[in-house]
Amino acid sequence: MRGRFAIQLNVRMRWLALPVAAAVFVTGCTGASPADPTTPGATPRFSSTDAPMGTTGMPPSELSVPGLTVSQSMGDDPALQVSVRRPVAPGQAGLSSVIADWATNAESAFRGDYVANPEAPPELNVGWQVVTASGPVLGIRMETFEFGGASGQTSHRVFYGDGSDTWTGVDLIVESARAAVVARVLAAVSAQGHPTFGSGPVASSGEPGGPSAADLLTDVTLTAAGDVVVLLDQGTAAPYSSGNLSVTIPAAAAAPLLSDRGRRVAQAVRSGLPYAVSVPSSAAPTAGGPSGRPGGSTATPPAPPTPPSPVPGPVPGSGVDCGVLKCVALTFDDGPGPLTGRLLDSLVSAGAPATFFVLGQNVRIHPDVVARMVRSGMVVANHTWDHRDLKRLTLEESRSEVDRTAAEITRVTGTSTILMRPPYGSYAPQTTTLGQSIILWDVDTEDWKNRSAAVTTSRALATVRSGSIILMHDIHASTVEAVPGIVAALKARGFTLVTIPQLLGSTTPGKVYTRRTAG
Ligand SMILES: [Zn+2]
Repeated sequence: MRGRFAIQLNVRMRWLALPVAAAVFVTGCTGASPADPTTPGATPRFSSTDAPMGTTGMPPSELSVPGLTVSQSMGDDPALQVSVRRPVAPGQAGLSSVIADWATNAESAFRGDYVANPEAPPELNVGWQVVTASGPVLGIRMETFEFGGASGQTSHRVFYGDGSDTWTGVDLIVESARAAVVARVLAAVSAQGHPTFGSGPVASSGEPGGPSAADLLTDVTLTAAGDVVVLLDQGTAAPYSSGNLSVTIPAAAAAPLLSDRGRRVAQAVRSGLPYAVSVPSSAAPTAGGPSGRPGGSTATPPAPPTPPSPVPGPVPGSGVDCGVLKCVALTFDDGPGPLTGRLLDSLVSAGAPATFFVLGQNVRIHPDVVARMVRSGMVVANHTWDHRDLKRLTLEESRSEVDRTAAEITRVTGTSTILMRPPYGSYAPQTTTLGQSIILWDVDTEDWKNRSAAVTTSRALATVRSGSIILMHDIHASTVEAVPGIVAALKARGFTLVTIPQLLGSTTPGKVYTRRTAG
């Protein structure tokens, strides 16, 4: 459960990637030994396919996890890019905590391995996806993209919890069958025409025979039909050039392989029951801040949290002329998160409009907050779906990052935007072809780094001038704390606080803006 996976090189692989190739059914069970518990009389078939990497995108199932929040560790350092997001689920303290430990470990290992490099910034992006949410069982896939300076790699790991117990993908398979499963997974991959790393786990003789169960069976899920699906990270079963593969173990063959925990997952998935885990009324999930609703079992979709909020009055500035006034735009990236409601409270009560560059993934989690932004006179703009460095993505992948987020914003707010801020301020020439105006900044508070309301405030005020765009992040408590003082100080200096559309007027797709430059 600790550490990252031993994987080398790679080609970029993202969720957009590949259509599922026709399944190749593997017959013969070539990896099975006579004592193989996976070999009943019939001939169970493991089938191997090229796997679509659909993992970072979240399926609708995440909507059925009431009260789920996301904890984010975001370092917006353009020279050492870290974006780690993990779910925190009510009633799943154990699971949330195991994932938190794992994510913390992944981040510190990354920070230990790499130093800032403006030329080729190392990048760590950890995202998540609900793979199972049924009965009391919640399954979370963590997807890690890591770029070390020359190439990137994507890896996966699934964690499960049922409110009282926590386990990982490999634990779905009974221990005595794991070696045989590995062998047969490799055989299925081999039968599809891929060279494999050995034919099974380390042999009892001590000779290396291939990947171990712990290395290979990190991402194991169950379908409603009872099939077991093993998602193989690039470079674990076969060379990187083979891409991502998945192996399906049909239900009939899979049933005898399941552990008690595996059967628990199978039963939950087969039941088709909505997700419902008991949430102690006094307990909030660990780490990650306010987390939704206490109390009772939670089988229905969450009601929007209702932060105490001032009645949103008319926000001044809609008729402002920044050609005449001294205007400045506050912008907030990476949210919305658990703190955003509080920030909105203070902006609204100060009559200070602002612009929020949101992650599409977070809009999915906090639609109510995003809707409230618009009702309060704020502008909601695009910060991509999950905060990847757009320079490392293909045009199609970049387009997906932007378009999915734009669609989510429109779904939730009824408004649309062509204002986009690339994560880390990093973009490629192709990014300018996505129909978006690229909004950067000229005042960087570095609030992600200093985590101090005082320092954030002084940085916000030090170089601000008429037409400035100030960069902050609404996921840090210190920033939320600093904002009322920043707003008051700017007003005292005669600035009018405006949104990006008010500051820049109508913007041109493909053009890059760092501030308002002309009258
Ligand atoms: Zn960001």
